[in-house]
Amino acid sequence: MIPYGRQDITQTDIDAVVGVLQSDFLTQGPMVPRFEQSVAQHVGASHALAVNSATSALHIACLALGLGPGDQLWTTPITFVASANCALYCGAEVDFVDIDPRTYNLCAQALAQKLEQAELAGKLPKIVVPVHLCGQPCDMQAIHALSQRYGFKIIEDASHAIGGKYQGEFIGNSRYSDITVFSFHPVKIITTAEGGMALTNDDELASKMALLRSHGITRDPAQMTHEADGPWYYQQIDLGFNYRMTELQAALGVTQMERLDQYVARRHELARRYDDLLTDLPVTTPWQHADSYSGLHLYVIRLQLDQIQKTHRQVFESLREQGIGVNLHYIPVHMQPHYERMGFEPADFPQAQVYYKEAISIPMFQTMTDEQQDEVIAALRVAVQP
Ligand SMILES: *Cc1c(COP(=O)(O)O)cnc(C)c1O
Repeated sequence: MIPYGRQDITQTDIDAVVGVLQSDFLTQGPMVPRFEQSVAQHVGASHALAVNSATSALHIACLALGLGPGDQLWTTPITFVASANCALYCGAEVDFVDIDPRTYNLCAQALAQKLEQAELAGKLPKIVVPVHLCGQPCDMQAIHALSQRYGFKIIEDASHAIGGKYQGEFIGNSRYSDITVFSFHPVKIITTAEGGMALTNDDELASKMALLRSHGITRDPAQMTHEADGPWYYQQIDLGFNYRMTELQAALGVTQMERLDQYVARRHELARRYDDLLTDLPVTTPWQHADSYSGLHLYVIRLQLDQIQKTHRQVFESLREQGIGVNLHYIPVHMQPHYERMGFEPADFPQAQVYYKEAISIPMFQTMTDEQQDEVIAALRVAVQP
């Protein structure tokens, strides 16, 4: 089976992790700050907070921005459930903005229209979470302009997008957002097994998220309500969690980061080859915005079903039967039972609904060979034949 995504683990990675196992610190040692510094420097952010998943990062990002009961968070329906669930953890409500039919990202025009109506109804969102689907950045400049006008905060869910650029600058520098989140799950671009990170240029948000990832506990005298009782002293000044990343994970992250640019470059080579080799097949290849250099976490094709005498499901099953580990990113979040129970209906977001009927993620990972890619194309050719 050729998987749709796969991590790359080298001897350097293994040595780094073993080195930690032989050291004094398995957690709360020097590796986590080193990994944070390496990512922050690479993408150009002032602060980076490593945590145990992107889901945790989204949660503490929402809390740091003050999301709570009575508030709304808006995101795209075409994302992993975590982009929306973070609002529910905070007792807030979720709503969605339909996707742009070309980029499959949250549509800035649809957002503008929805905001206009929401303002009249007095129900503006507190946070909007644009997701850089497949690694292609959202129209951040337009979304940021809307945030200025309507007063909402922005968390970029860049789980797919580390190593990518928007308007020539690395995603993660949060130029057009308050906080950016990365995921280091093994299918993503670089991995720490499980892991995530929140990046920001705001000192206060960084310090809030640092507290929240570790029980709300501080050892900084400046943050305490009174002078320390003694050298053992710490204070819990907020209600936080244990969302810390381990030293083992961070060590892996440090060595993975050294290969990030190389990984994304290889993904671009593969994407260009797919673009060329798929031209005569009845599929739509991913459209890339001129302002963007995608991280290319995923390569999603859309079936031109009017030109194929098979259903979406039949093509998908044929690919799996031929050993191609295709996937579908994503089942629209508003169509999940947990969200349907809140009153969402499939047709609420029509572009997301049609996307779901046509999309297939075909294999894309840095260690994929040209030969494996040719196998994918050959299988696809068979799958779309009558
Ligand atoms: C993977 C992913 C997440 C969650 O990442 P974890 O690190 O597994 O918690 C969130 N959002 C998107 C868009 C993702 O792809």
